[in-house]
Amino acid sequence: MAKIKIAELFYSIQGEGRYMGVPSVFLRTFGCNFSCRGFGMPRGEFSTEATELIQVAHMFEKYEDLPLVSTGCDSYASWMPEFKSLSPMLTTDAIADRITEIIPHSEWRDEHLVITGGEPLLGWQRAYPDLLDHPKMAGLKEITFETNGTQKLTQEFKDYLREWQDLNRTKREVTFSVSAKLPCSGEKWEDAICPQVVREYEQVGTAYLKFVIATKQDFEDAERAVKEFRNAGFTGHVYLMPVGGVESVYALNNKAVALMAMAAGLRYSDRLQVPLFKNEWGT
Ligand code: SF4
Repeated sequence: MAKIKIAELFYSIQGEGRYMGVPSVFLRTFGCNFSCRGFGMPRGEFSTEATELIQVAHMFEKYEDLPLVSTGCDSYASWMPEFKSLSPMLTTDAIADRITEIIPHSEWRDEHLVITGGEPLLGWQRAYPDLLDHPKMAGLKEITFETNGTQKLTQEFKDYLREWQDLNRTKREVTFSVSAKLPCSGEKWEDAICPQVVREYEQVGTAYLKFVIATKQDFEDAERAVKEFRNAGFTGHVYLMPVGGVESVYALNNKAVALMAMAAGLRYSDRLQVPLFKNEWGT
């Protein structure tokens, strides 16, 4: 039976993008190919908030006890090796059991599944068919992969997803919410903007782009990236979303980002988990 290393598994409301407001199970896998230490920092500088926690990592016994950070990646514990012990490796059976326990009626109704990270399209692609075909997942109708858009789909996983489309066997809809990383993340453009990869997602589901914006410069970077994606044939929607894993930062620029989105004819995505739940772990 396949196994997945799970950083978090919880039930909440999707706060971002296409399914904003939809009750959702979040499955946060462990591991990421980026570190995004530039978020919330002046350009060219890197956050040390999460790395400073490494020395005291042994003091935290569970995910919920970890401090929230206001700069850098707000899901740092889902990929930093020093926090790996907080993420158990679970069989797909155990994951399906746990999901059945946390959804309100012990069966899928209107709930949607979000597979997030870290970067969920790293090696775990091999385990998803086992999980999604599990009898306890039979009522699930909508799935989103929240990805940074850099990981190609394996041929096996692509074939598996294509089968849903071709045969409409399961009547399931798959979405790729692609949070492509702009230079404000601290990642390099050539590593982070991968239009051909995202074009492939569009062949097996719905894909949209979501850019985290803090400044006018980020907005200009997003416009440049959108051009590259469009030139490659990408047809999906584009969302601008305010930076801010904590409320004080989010509240500073959410309105400004909404206005930028309106002026550019792009979609605005909120981060409902910040005002509603303070972006605490498990929300
Ligand atoms: S891609 Fe996402 S999970 Fe990975 S480091 Fe960046 S913000 Fe964090």
